[in-house]
Amino acid sequence: FKARWWSLNKVKTVCSYCGTGCQLTLGVKDNKVLTTVYDENQGFHNGQLCTRGRFGYQFVNSDKRLKTPLVKKNGKLEEASWDEALGLVHQRLADAKSVGASSVAGLVTPRLTNEELYLFKQLFNKGIGSDNIDHSAGYAHDALTAGAVESLGYPASPASISDIQTTNLLLVVKTDAYETHPVLGFEINLGVKRKGVNLRIVSDKKGKLSKLPNAITYVHKPASEVLLFNALAKVIVDEGLADSSASSLPGYDDFVKNLGACAPAIVAAQCGMSIEDITTLARDYAKAEKALIMLPIGLAYPGHGKALAQATINLALLTGKIGKEGCGVLIMGEKNNSQGAADLRIHPVAGGRDAMGILDGCASGAIKTLYVVGENPVISYPNRKKVEAALDAVEFLVVQDLFMTETASKADVVLPACSFAEKNGTFTSAGKAVQRVRKAIDTIGMARSDFDIFNSLYSTLGCDSFKGLSEVFAEIASVVPSYSGLTFDGLDENGSVYSVANRLRFVSTVADGQESAAGAMALVTGNALNHCGTLSLHGEGPMYVCPEGYVELNSGDAKKLGVENDQTLTVKSSVGEVKLKAKVSMRMPEGVVFAPYHFSDMSINSITNGAPVTWVTISK
Ligand code: SF4
Repeated sequence: FKARWWSLNKVKTVCSYCGTGCQLTLGVKDNKVLTTVYDENQGFHNGQLCTRGRFGYQFVNSDKRLKTPLVKKNGKLEEASWDEALGLVHQRLADAKSVGASSVAGLVTPRLTNEELYLFKQLFNKGIGSDNIDHSAGYAHDALTAGAVESLGYPASPASISDIQTTNLLLVVKTDAYETHPVLGFEINLGVKRKGVNLRIVSDKKGKLSKLPNAITYVHKPASEVLLFNALAKVIVDEGLADSSASSLPGYDDFVKNLGACAPAIVAAQCGMSIEDITTLARDYAKAEKALIMLPIGLAYPGHGKALAQATINLALLTGKIGKEGCGVLIMGEKNNSQGAADLRIHPVAGGRDAMGILDGCASGAIKTLYVVGENPVISYPNRKKVEAALDAVEFLVVQDLFMTETASKADVVLPACSFAEKNGTFTSAGKAVQRVRKAIDTIGMARSDFDIFNSLYSTLGCDSFKGLSEVFAEIASVVPSYSGLTFDGLDENGSVYSVANRLRFVSTVADGQESAAGAMALVTGNALNHCGTLSLHGEGPMYVCPEGYVELNSGDAKKLGVENDQTLTVKSSVGEVKLKAKVSMRMPEGVVFAPYHFSDMSINSITNGAPVTWVTISK
């Protein structure tokens, strides 16, 4: 960047990419973010940042940012004033309120601040009277935290990030933290190399974590995790390795009874693991003095998150490895404020529609007005055709975003919103730290903060608008028990970590297993290295490391198909086909292929169907 460090205005804030919640310092000049730097005194991570946090900030000052409101006239989006655009949205919401609030729905990104998410919820629940709200994390992270609610009574991890360094055995489930939450990958590296933490990985593919010393990776069939965890529990019960406290917990008898069908001899083939491996892993976990399970999860893993959270928490309860240092289950949300969205319960409660229900409602005509904030369902939700049909069917679509996304291009009204660098507020990390986000630059063009936009609409719908962030935060602290005692101005510089009082119980989980389709390969989707959602597509660092989508397949499969690296392949499922470049690697098991979901060109969600595994065929 072309400026002396001393000439920059420095603003401490929080990274807006993933749920790790790293703090960073933005270097600002002439209303532009020119750099981000780390300060080793900042945050739990001693200032470490990954490529996204360090080199992915360019989206803030991108030329492609939306700068004015847009209103559709004669089928075309045209520039409009805020009065005209907000007036249209207000009229539509007011009309719906008077005739049928349940015909209005909202989808919001968990990238907003807690205060904005709270206002969004108030706007829908109180301002409009609709409970049809959800966030993208509702696809996966919310499913995990919903599992935590039933097992623990609260939608948050029964563990903290510091437990990574104090545990004896870390069991990482389903993904590679180096890709989803890179700074946690560094933390794991430190734990393994300096503290001698034994690393066990269960995943449908190998990753960089698998290369660490002491790491043993168990590759299982996609979407068999719940079955596998039940099998581990069965071994522990049968071998008398359960903790004496377990049998006194509610739900224990039913849980043990339901494990009958999960003996390793019965389920090993479905999991794609040997009986010996399942038994060894169960013994290692149960016999470790302290053991921590880590579930880094993202939007791209639909289907069975709730059961997965419950199955892992059951294992921790069974062995007494919960509520102690170095123990528990650490649930890592994909987005920067996934945990805040869970804490604030940004999802339907009594009879409202969740994200899938909202899209179904749009398609059927039950939902007539959809307000999408910071989400791009066309690209990031499964089954693109179905999503596009739903968005095309809805009568009135409002999209509030930083960029003209594929979803925004279908809107009747587009509202330009602010990035994290233009706003004050708080994010809550997956480690339950409530941290201050600080405004570094003035808003770009005519963009307005989500807080400001929601507050305007809220007041025009007859509710008292909020005066400021402190007032909203105080209200949050009064309704979210774990935030009680926290104040906006009193938050700790390094984040105020809240604790939760859990009420523990076993919840029996349905064992899953995926039937394969003859001759087909299992497609799993997820994060590409250094990407997170669709925001990272506007960051130079992430795009330098990974500029386009691809399909990754095992070298043995590639040989059978006669496929070479970078060759364009047709990947076909029951709902469509897409052309992607081949990436041949050793980390995929045979019969399983992987594709990142972020990219709009050749979008993999054109062919996913919303199930944990989509079966595909591959041809040249
Ligand atoms: Fe940002 Fe996550 Fe990277 Fe930390 S690990 S710098 S929060 S993207």
